[in-house]
Amino acid sequence: MHGSLVESLCATCGAVTAWREAMALDSKCASCGGVGVIRPNVVWFGEMPYHMDRIEAAMTSASLFVSIGTSGSVYPAAGYVAMAGQLGTPTMELNLEPSDNAALFEDGRYGPATEVVTAWVDEVLAG
Ligand SMILES: [Zn+2]
Repeated sequence: MHGSLVESLCATCGAVTAWREAMALDSKCASCGGVGVIRPNVVWFGEMPYHMDRIEAAMTSASLFVSIGTSGSVYPAAGYVAMAGQLGTPTMELNLEPSDNAALFEDGRYGPATEVVTAWVDEVLAG
């Protein structure tokens, strides 16, 4: 939903292009040739995140909602746990510490991601 740092987005022609080198003011759009018009293909504050329709469709068919590593304070992403709750989907938070909306999760595990995420994945894979 927040885009990709290894892609460029052209403000002139809208082209999204794989981009793995340093980006500068004189970088050129591979599609239209425009100079000074590309930026990383990531969503900045105040912009609408990508794929909202796909995310909301996935929310309606999910059997579990898991949030990993978030403050729980930036919307619209922070609102998905409430949506999951309204849909009756079980919810879990894996985070360094309880997020701002931790009270909305049915379950939470807290600590470094290298520990809590791997332990949870092992638990899920063990059935
Ligand atoms: Zn362009």
